[in-house]
Amino acid sequence: MSITCSTVKMTDKNGDLNFINQEATQWQESPKETIEYAPKDETIMLVGGLTILQDKLIETALHSIGENFVALPNPDFESFQTGKAFGNRGQCNPTYFTVGNLVKYLQNLRDKEGMSSEEIVQKYVFVTAGGCGPCRFGMYITEYKKALRDAGFDGLRITSFEHDKGIFQSEDDEESILNLSPKFFITLIKAVIIGDIMNILGYKMRPYEVHAGDVDKAMEACRIQISHAFMAKKNLTKTLWYCRNILEKVELNRLQPKAKVMVMGEFWAAMTEGDGNYNLHRFLEAEGAECIPQPIINRLLLSIWEAERRVQKKEELATQTEKKVDFSNVKSRILIKLAKIAVKAHFGMYAKAIGLHDYAIPNMEKLAAISEEYYTLDCEGGEGHLEVAHLIESVKENLSHLTISVKPFGCMPSSAVSDGVQSLVTSRFPSANFLAIETSGEGAANFYSRVQMALFKAKQSAKEEFESLTIPETMPKKIHNYLYQPHSNKAGSAAKLVASL
Ligand code: SF4
Repeated sequence: MSITCSTVKMTDKNGDLNFINQEATQWQESPKETIEYAPKDETIMLVGGLTILQDKLIETALHSIGENFVALPNPDFESFQTGKAFGNRGQCNPTYFTVGNLVKYLQNLRDKEGMSSEEIVQKYVFVTAGGCGPCRFGMYITEYKKALRDAGFDGLRITSFEHDKGIFQSEDDEESILNLSPKFFITLIKAVIIGDIMNILGYKMRPYEVHAGDVDKAMEACRIQISHAFMAKKNLTKTLWYCRNILEKVELNRLQPKAKVMVMGEFWAAMTEGDGNYNLHRFLEAEGAECIPQPIINRLLLSIWEAERRVQKKEELATQTEKKVDFSNVKSRILIKLAKIAVKAHFGMYAKAIGLHDYAIPNMEKLAAISEEYYTLDCEGGEGHLEVAHLIESVKENLSHLTISVKPFGCMPSSAVSDGVQSLVTSRFPSANFLAIETSGEGAANFYSRVQMALFKAKQSAKEEFESLTIPETMPKKIHNYLYQPHSNKAGSAAKLVASL
């Protein structure tokens, strides 16, 4: 029996959108026709989806080791609409933003740069994160393939880093499209870590700049220096040290009591810097707040922690069943230990060099311990227990005046689980100023209005905290230097500075 579907949208070779009736058939992931792909040295890898700075640094870092990677532009609202036009219904919006952004880029190559669809499919590979889910994430690559096919790029190769394997990828995982050598990973991770450090510094400095735009200009100047260092194989630590000279020239007025806002939630929604979360970070800054972003390294450390926990469970099971020592577990343990040391050492070294002193790399064991009572550690979807841990940590250690959990509309782990659990957390920690908010790609007015309401209370708290301190009549000059980052139990940056005197 054949069933006739309702209308299906497809573009033809000229890029025109047609609505056709199509008979329902079994979905086939592989392209209908055999494609002769370009040889490896002519293949171009497309990456994207992290912060703007990190995407650019990754592109240069991988170029420096001979890999032909191109960073996609930051996804915007048009990307979302393109993703919706070609994607299935009912997806979470990172799928639409990501695949729409890719389709838009490919359409541009075809329509503006004159490449044929066949040539694009032969030459380009999209590199993305993949994994088993357990939420919709497990279906991302199939969804991308469907959208690409309907947009006229059937057969464009997609390859992935398995997000649940973290840095424990195997060179055999993909049929050698990606060169997953240790050198590749070390270079990639260096770019990600440097990007994280610079982003954290940018968020610490930007709200206090005296001349609007100075911090962004300084960050761009630093990025250029670091990119040159990657390409010229220069010492990255020395380059970051040199970047202090650039950053110190930015004039800051740090004695402004600004609300400190921790932005967390679903990985992509909390990290992206654009229409994907309605430019949440920049909106908060414009409204007089200082953001605490979630660095990518958190996700990396969570992957390592999850891998370690899996090994531990295997070992416990082996002990119960009196099996002999499994040497694959021993090997995994050594690799995990080395990965942890390498990530922490690089972060510490680079942070120290550029002058990020007041920042502690997340302690995954501690975060697991504080959230365990509320959220099972065995649930690995989305950010797992991290959202719950961040909120509790923020309240207990007075890290922020407001915690925002941002997630795509209908995000299964973040909305259905964490928000439910967060109600229990906020009832036990009544001083928590917590806002859980969804992005749908549309409806920015409602989103901004809810953020503004929560921010009002946070601004009041920041002001009261600052005014409760005795302000010295004369201030030492160091107070406005970004390198002066004293420790204190105050949440606001200005209050921290005054309390340190
Ligand atoms: S974590 Fe949420 S937004 Fe991300 S893939 Fe899963 S369901 Fe979608």
